[in-house]
Amino acid sequence: MEKIKNKFLILPIIVLVISLSTLIFSKYTSPKPSYKAYTSFKDELKLKKISTVYITDSNKIKFMLTNGQVYETDNPGTNNFKETLLSSNIKVLDQYPLNNIEKFSLIGLLVSIVCIIATYLRSSKIKTKKSFSVDAIDAKAIENPDFTFKNMAGNEEAKESVQDIVDFLINPEKYKSYGARIPKGVILYGEPGTGKTLLAKAIAGEAGVPFYAVSGSDFIQIYVGVGASRIRQLFKKARNNKKKKSIIFIDEIDAIGKKRESGAASSSDERDQTLNALLTEISGFNEDDGIVVIAATNRLDTLDPALLRPGRFDRHIEISLPDISAREKIIKLHLKNKPVGNINIKDWAQKTSYFSGAKIESLINEAAIIACKENNTTIEDKHMDKAFSITLAGYEKKNRDYIKNTDKNITAYHEMGHAITSLKMLPNEKVSKVTIIPSTKGAGGYTLSIPEDRLYQNKDYLTKKMMVLLGGRAAEHIVFGPEFITTGAHNDLKRCTNIAYNMISRYGMGKTLGLLNMEELSQLNINQDNVIKECKNLVDDIYERTKKLILENMDFLEVKAKKLIEKETLFEEDLI
Ligand code: ADP
Ligand code: ZN
Repeated sequence: MEKIKNKFLILPIIVLVISLSTLIFSKYTSPKPSYKAYTSFKDELKLKKISTVYITDSNKIKFMLTNGQVYETDNPGTNNFKETLLSSNIKVLDQYPLNNIEKFSLIGLLVSIVCIIATYLRSSKIKTKKSFSVDAIDAKAIENPDFTFKNMAGNEEAKESVQDIVDFLINPEKYKSYGARIPKGVILYGEPGTGKTLLAKAIAGEAGVPFYAVSGSDFIQIYVGVGASRIRQLFKKARNNKKKKSIIFIDEIDAIGKKRESGAASSSDERDQTLNALLTEISGFNEDDGIVVIAATNRLDTLDPALLRPGRFDRHIEISLPDISAREKIIKLHLKNKPVGNINIKDWAQKTSYFSGAKIESLINEAAIIACKENNTTIEDKHMDKAFSITLAGYEKKNRDYIKNTDKNITAYHEMGHAITSLKMLPNEKVSKVTIIPSTKGAGGYTLSIPEDRLYQNKDYLTKKMMVLLGGRAAEHIVFGPEFITTGAHNDLKRCTNIAYNMISRYGMGKTLGLLNMEELSQLNINQDNVIKECKNLVDDIYERTKKLILENMDFLEVKAKKLIEKETLFEEDLI
């Protein structure tokens, strides 16, 4: 926009400057008519040799003789001067005529000023139009038949549940002959980075139809009505494309479709209008229009139920975090087309539990960057290791000198306390790394254990998990004495308290409440003292058990803690 504006302005500005300087120049340089005394003017008048007189406001007048010569003389300033001249048949003008150069300059000046004003007005009009316009929403149809389900690893169930949509888009007659209705709207829900956008794009690619991607937040504007008209414009665009079929993908649908809050005073008109426009559009098109709207959200339960009714977004597909075999596939997919050396993919699939696809992608990208920085020809396990620490704990601090030896000691025993309880109590959870190198995330060190993939956590597991969390403080207590325990356990204690409270107040695993749920009871305003007392007893009891466990393994703790101080980082194989 700026460029075009500049281009349109350059010419008028040049003309403006030239005409202005010509005008000024000619005013000072054009030959002045020679002066004649007023008496000789009168003589000429008598001789009827004067054709025109120019009377201006100045104290000089100009006159032209019948032979065309122009002279200047004094203005007599008398009242009947003009009348006298007129009655002797002489033309009287109140302006001395401009010469041709001056005329052109003046025209140039006027035209260029008009041009500049016009350009300015137009650009400001475009600007205001832009913020109101539906065109500002950038929903270009993308067609990329090369982008298919192959670009998405794992998520097999999700792919299966959208296979019929792909079939329908390819061959709608088949479905019509069965009288089958294909969903107009599909909601993909799940954690960020699990591949919702990827799946929507792949459906379009598989079916070979255009893909329109927008985000819910694009529709929420300050001006009421803009969102709604943008929605209509988007569907119009989709309907008018030459293929007739398309996928419309609306990311972050929550921005328009969030549940209305119960104190409805805060409800926003703009969002309601936008949501209504969307619902109207969806109800408005026929199945055989071949438009499928796919929306994505992190949480299904926050959406307005109006969106989820039959005939609207009536198919809900969960895109979950990848399990171990899916992670293996995702890792393989992202390592493809990269120079891969010695990387134990199975191992990495295990280490990355609870990683989303996007996080795995960024881990591998980080490893590639590290390998490149080290000028290694291939990406190796060691690069993955570094990348892993970076993604999990922020950058390892380069300068370790400032860490005092006492701090190192405390951290080493604390972390080994976690490691030992984890190794003994939860042998299925691998302790893949113990380190005393602080990270920018602020931890003095950390122990990385990889939880098993499991759906439920039982009481036994939760208790053991609490022991692992308390293991750090327990080791400090035993090794340095009760007077020298540190603040390092702050976060561990927070997490431990959370588990204890949840066990007793929510999961029905305590005595005080039994199977009752605290949240439900809280409306009755009962006092929580007993619950807190039980939480305390539980944690105290678990703490004692943890200390006992550590005391039984003191030799192991001493040996490994010394090794940790020496090497700063220990891996799985160092802990056997
Ligand atoms: P979402 O829309 O769920 O937030 P995206 O689809 O935008 O997530 O995923 C972000 C990136 O993460 C993708 O571009 C891709 O590189 C990677 N990714 C996520 N899930 C997968 C998967 N299942 N297979 C391969 N790559 C994935
Ligand atoms: Zn700790």
